[in-house]
Amino acid sequence: MPSLRLANLIDGRLVAPRADRWLEVHEPATGEILAHCPDSDANDVADAVAAAQRAAPGWSHTPIEQRARLLQRLAELIEQDLDAFAALESRDSGKPLALARSLDIPRAVSNLRYFAATIQGWGSESHAMALGQPGAGAINYTLRQPLGVVGCISPWNLPLYLFTWKIAPALAAGNTVVAKPSEVTPCTAVRLAELSIAAGFPPGVLNIVQGRGPSVGQALVEHPRVKAISFTGSTATGAAIAATAAPLFKKVSLEMGGKNPAIVFADADLSDANLDTIVRSGFANQGEICLCGSRLLVQRSIYEGFRERYLERVRALVVGDPDEPGTHLGALVSQAHFDKVMRCLDQARADGASVLCGGEPVRLQGRCAGGWFVAPTVIEGLPNTASTNQTEIFGPVASLIPFEDEAEAIALANDSAYGLAASLWTQDLSRAHRVAAALDFGIVWVNCWLLRDLRTPFGGAKQSGLGREGGAEALAFFTEPKNVCIRY
Ligand code: NAD
Repeated sequence: MPSLRLANLIDGRLVAPRADRWLEVHEPATGEILAHCPDSDANDVADAVAAAQRAAPGWSHTPIEQRARLLQRLAELIEQDLDAFAALESRDSGKPLALARSLDIPRAVSNLRYFAATIQGWGSESHAMALGQPGAGAINYTLRQPLGVVGCISPWNLPLYLFTWKIAPALAAGNTVVAKPSEVTPCTAVRLAELSIAAGFPPGVLNIVQGRGPSVGQALVEHPRVKAISFTGSTATGAAIAATAAPLFKKVSLEMGGKNPAIVFADADLSDANLDTIVRSGFANQGEICLCGSRLLVQRSIYEGFRERYLERVRALVVGDPDEPGTHLGALVSQAHFDKVMRCLDQARADGASVLCGGEPVRLQGRCAGGWFVAPTVIEGLPNTASTNQTEIFGPVASLIPFEDEAEAIALANDSAYGLAASLWTQDLSRAHRVAAALDFGIVWVNCWLLRDLRTPFGGAKQSGLGREGGAEALAFFTEPKNVCIRY
């Protein structure tokens, strides 16, 4: 297949980067060049911000129904093109095509539809005051006005899914957007750009600048006209963005890394379906989901029996060509990420871990001979303090850790710099409430995983996040509240 030549979206047009520099984008399943992506710089960002600024007054005064209609239209166009989007997402990221088709692209459609609907039902507050005598009072009402130009920066693991999760609320709330997808997985953002033109968004309302983090991302964060940054990615990048944005007094929303526990109590209902979910929570998308449970805490009284049933399932997972319908795990996203995961496994062995299954690359034949595949890996024997259990690996690696009782489970789960998502498995209702309340995480799933309602606050505590996305939280982030007090 000839490589794709990608583009930026600036002022309603698909354009090459000003400096005409390009990055190679590889297909993870084959290692071959899939696309050439603009290696844009601060000049391209400046063009995009200028276009967004020109468009801002018009867009912020566009009736809400019209903004919602355009978001709906974009959702429809993506849905009509679902198969092509899914194929491109799978090619670009290495994830199974079936997953892109059932999760990534439908969720991008839902993000757009959800915020199109939510903005139309979104109200603001009013506070009435009495002033001590009959007939005298005041009314406060809160205007929630768009910020102007906002920046949205997203990672490679759920490319279109997370990109639209930011763009949709920003646009719905009346902001104009300069968005930067990951340079590792830039492809579907270009298709989105094409469809945004076809949907009829006015020029400059949505701009997409492709390129590397230290050039495009940094320029976006530094730009004085960009009022807020919504970022999803690693904690290290989040810290760099926070440091740049702080003296500029920019709003930031940071969704970052995790080291999530899945806690299995002895009283859990370990039906086949639930065990499948526990396995999925570790290995879906090759473990490259920020919400994946990589620390599997299991009560000691059931540890051995659980381990055998769990291992049997993990061993049955198929690592293969992402195009094949039977594939459970595709390729890791890049050579660099593959190398990182292999280094983490070396470290685990050096620290004395027992590798119960996996632990090695998988070499496929044919089309995928050059791909970056890793076998689903289960290890045990390391304390929670080991680097394997403290650093985010972001690959198909789960670490089993036994615990004695509820207090120890909570202590182990919370003994982490991160606090994104925890899942717990128990049939004891009181325990479920008690443990959920005691966990220092932004999201707790009980007897489920990755069950998402877009109205709920989404995000992490500690080094996993600052602020929340989702529902009204996202709309609040992308607006400035202004209180107006009228005395009568
Ligand atoms: P990353 O931090 O390397 O990159 C994320 C984005 O930031 C990319 O678009 C990148 O180009 C950009 N970037 C890099 N340096 C920048 C800078 N100095 N200024 C501005 N932008 C910059 O992360 P990644 O490797 O793409 O993604 C994996 C990480 O994302 C993992 O840590 C994962 O946990 C996290 N993640 C978190 C969530 C969440 O909701 N909390 C969701 C998905 C992924």
